[in-house]
Amino acid sequence: MKIQSYVNGEWCSGDGRTDTLVNSVNDEVIGEVVSLTSGFDQILAHGRKAGGSALRKMTTHERAEKIKFLAKYLLDRKDDFYRVSYMTGATKADSWVDIEGGIGTMFSYSGIARRELNNDTFVVEGNVEPLSAGGTFVGQHILTAKEGVSLHINAFNFPVWGMLEKITPSLIAGVPVIVKPGTVTCYLTEIVVKAMIESQIFPEGSIQLICGSVGDILDHLNEQDVVTFTGSASTGRRLKAHPNIIEKSIPFTMEADSLNCCILAPDVTVDSPEFDLYIKEVAREMTTKAGQKCTAIRRAIVPNNLIDPVSEALMKRLQSTSLGDPQAEGVRMGALVGKSQREDVIAAVEQLGQSSEIILNGMQGFVPIGVESGKGAFMAPTLLHCKDPLNITTPHDVEAFGPVSTLMGYDGIDQAIELAKMGKGSLAGSVFTASRDNARDIILGTASHHGRMLVIDSTCAKESTGHGSPLAPLIHGGPGRAGGGEELGGARAIKHYMQRSAIQGSPMSLMAVTNQYVKGAELKEDRVHPFRKYFEELEIGESLLTHRRTVTEADIVNFGCLSGDHFYAHFDEIAAKDSFFEKRVAHGYFVISAAAGLFVDPGLGPVIANYGIDNLRFVEPVGIGDTIQVRLTCKRKVKKSKKPDDKYHTGVVIWDVEVKNQNDEAVAIYDILTLVERQSDD
Ligand code: NDP
Repeated sequence: MKIQSYVNGEWCSGDGRTDTLVNSVNDEVIGEVVSLTSGFDQILAHGRKAGGSALRKMTTHERAEKIKFLAKYLLDRKDDFYRVSYMTGATKADSWVDIEGGIGTMFSYSGIARRELNNDTFVVEGNVEPLSAGGTFVGQHILTAKEGVSLHINAFNFPVWGMLEKITPSLIAGVPVIVKPGTVTCYLTEIVVKAMIESQIFPEGSIQLICGSVGDILDHLNEQDVVTFTGSASTGRRLKAHPNIIEKSIPFTMEADSLNCCILAPDVTVDSPEFDLYIKEVAREMTTKAGQKCTAIRRAIVPNNLIDPVSEALMKRLQSTSLGDPQAEGVRMGALVGKSQREDVIAAVEQLGQSSEIILNGMQGFVPIGVESGKGAFMAPTLLHCKDPLNITTPHDVEAFGPVSTLMGYDGIDQAIELAKMGKGSLAGSVFTASRDNARDIILGTASHHGRMLVIDSTCAKESTGHGSPLAPLIHGGPGRAGGGEELGGARAIKHYMQRSAIQGSPMSLMAVTNQYVKGAELKEDRVHPFRKYFEELEIGESLLTHRRTVTEADIVNFGCLSGDHFYAHFDEIAAKDSFFEKRVAHGYFVISAAAGLFVDPGLGPVIANYGIDNLRFVEPVGIGDTIQVRLTCKRKVKKSKKPDDKYHTGVVIWDVEVKNQNDEAVAIYDILTLVERQSDD
């Protein structure tokens, strides 16, 4: 079988380097990849021209919707992916992380984008910045999709998740992708891409796949392209230093190997629940994916007085891990992805073994379940003990990318922190402790060297997502040795593929660019109340100035009785005189309730519901006898897609609300969100 690439709208093979791909469980040949040797400039051009221009016409929400449809499409075909995933040596649990974890990331991002980004072809970021005393010159950041492609050079260990976690933010940003999977497991990536192309959910050119070598593609990248890399630090450094990448300042996100640590804090004893949790987590991280995880625990940092009980408990647990064919009954740990990877791991263990004692040797003397003798790329868990970790640097430098970890002892929290930092930058670190002080000291002492950290105690362990799981809303990446990159982390991952520009000008110009009301821009008033208008009929900048209302003592008394809020500033004449306000004032919540009474049009109409309030500030007090008036202005509109159970087609309208007093001073400012009916369907 030929594993193919999908480029320029067709599936094809090249005439270059041939890689034979082998089932890592039984050594059977799966197929071969013949690398492309030329035409990389056309592949990039196809992505930019066909994919990029089609993607940039859609809004962020439309692209996010497509990601959701694609995720559903892939989920329906997951059984096909699992079948192939076993050939990589992954167990069902490992494959779940790769396949359903990857698809889950797509669902998460689809939601994040629709919740947090405006529904336009570009993104408006942050607040309008006042830049002049008279308010006629203001600034605002916007982000537009880069007009290039994003090239994702991925590692072999997560052929599905590794692709999906990167292409999802890029496609939502409006940037087409070219995926280059690690060759040894690219047959799994290929069948997932086949399903994506077959779905026709994204326009042609949005998704391309290059299996095998990427030839001279880096020479043809331009200033609008982006590269992400996951793999070894040495390859990453080499690619990052490519002359074309440097010359054109092409963003290069690198996620490289790291020596992640897991610290058992000094408050824990063998009888504490955190002791057992620690043993379970270290063993789980060593055996999941046969330890081929960028976030796996490589350094188990333990108080010196607990080294013996920890090593005994850990060895017992690791020895009971059943190793073998991932599809055989009872197997908990599968194979490494290939024999050459196993050779690399063994070489790394031998290097580590020169300065640490191998206390559990998984390189020999085991019989994998359901596997013919001598077949497959198996290796059992291997545990080392470094007796002088503050002076021996090898366990902090050498990563054995397999089921391998090194125990190291410490005396006192300062030493634990020093050891953690000797990794020179990691993707993930964890602390097992029931002491809040230890948690704070260790996290604050080591966070500068980590992209993500967990504190595990008995109250959160059951629901914890674990040391090694990157999650869509949280940063994945780490400083220094870990590559210095950031992936995931919510909407910021989408923005990575966009250009942020500061736009300065008059409120009117900014409003024209961003399609959002900017204070100081011209207002449009109409005889028809805005609450009587359908979503489509409302214009940005459309505004209503209400009638006025004088606040009386009766208002304060009534509101206090209704709400039960009898705070002295509203009810105690003497205390109020001594207070900050020097008089009795109305409740802030009365002011916004009274404001609603002023701006609402009460009759049945297209406004369906009050959705909430954002950015509320009470700017000035409202006293007895003050007169308030409200300006309500249509600030932003977000069209919502109708779900099957929804009664109406709707959109959310965000209104700028300003409540002023008789002196034209703002007393309260905020945004209200209303759900408004649409006349047109999707
Ligand atoms: P590599 O760094 O060798 O390869 C990573 C990716 O880069 C692969 O897709 C590889 O393709 C590609 N690549 C290699 N050379 C070039 C080149 N000259 N131009 C363009 N692309 C290139 O890492 P491996 O995948 O072999 O893994 C080795 C080590 O990486 C592991 O032992 C581990 O230490 C680390 N690693 C880190 C991970 C992380 O998430 N941080 C994940 C996985 C591995 P090809 O496969 O065709 O060589």
